[in-house]
Amino acid sequence: MEHSDVYNLMYDHAEFYRPPREEHSAFLEVAYGCSWGSCAFCDFIKDEYKVYSLKDISRKAQLLSQVIGEKTRIHFLGCNPLGLPTDFLLDVFMLTRRYLPQVSEYSMYARSDDVLSKSEAELAALKRAGLTDVHVGIESGADEVLAMHSKGETAQQMLDACLALEKAGIACHISLIPGLGGRSLSKLHAEKTAELLSKIHPASVWCIGLAVWEGTPLADMIRSGSFDHMDYREMLEELRYMVSLTEMEGPDCTFTDSSVLGLYTVEGKLPSGKADLLHVFDQLLAAYPVAPSEVLYDGPSVIG
Ligand code: SF4
Repeated sequence: MEHSDVYNLMYDHAEFYRPPREEHSAFLEVAYGCSWGSCAFCDFIKDEYKVYSLKDISRKAQLLSQVIGEKTRIHFLGCNPLGLPTDFLLDVFMLTRRYLPQVSEYSMYARSDDVLSKSEAELAALKRAGLTDVHVGIESGADEVLAMHSKGETAQQMLDACLALEKAGIACHISLIPGLGGRSLSKLHAEKTAELLSKIHPASVWCIGLAVWEGTPLADMIRSGSFDHMDYREMLEELRYMVSLTEMEGPDCTFTDSSVLGLYTVEGKLPSGKADLLHVFDQLLAAYPVAPSEVLYDGPSVIG
């Protein structure tokens, strides 16, 4: 069978946001969509949430064994698989080992309340079973911004979730959304997000500037005038302000923004590379006195 045929059989949802850390991972669908499914900006809220049965996941793992090659790491697909019961996740780890014995590391997305729903003992059990990395959609450190988009979580929960993962020895990767506060909450969004960042020690920070997807509540908010959408240059100004305010300590984390000006990916290290990042942002702001009229950023990655 051609690899493309295997991918078609294996994935119901072949598009997702692939974190930079997962560039070399194989992907296994465990769930489809998000159990929360209510964030105003999210293009996945249109998907009906479902969890695959162990039988379905076994079939997908068997298919994956035909295309996985030398990869030893699996990223579970679904918007927040960590919210699934711990016993179920442990069973999934076990069955993937049956078909993919070379796999030694697992990662997945989570909401912060998914992390907080796990006890210390459960996080420890998942870590022992091979869970090395969790990607938490933080989006903003400002409660006002989170509430505006019906994120259903507070900045305190975000902080507690990151600290719980840190305590469990599981690498915590976070995503942020420049522009999420619109013009009216931009300053607060930058300041509160920098404050949150300065209290945690993520393994990576991934920024994706706010994109507007048709059919989302955000698109309606913009049409009705209740959300003042920023252009990519304004988002870069906000990002620069946010990074300038960070006072992170401890080991470096990787910082990536894959939508700078809608054209570029900027990577650096925080805290040690903060001055370098600010310099790059300043150069880009000088090179683009107005926002580019055409952008290249085109949303989620396609697998396969
Ligand atoms: S929690 Fe994440 S995946 Fe779920 S609706 Fe919100 S942004 Fe989308």
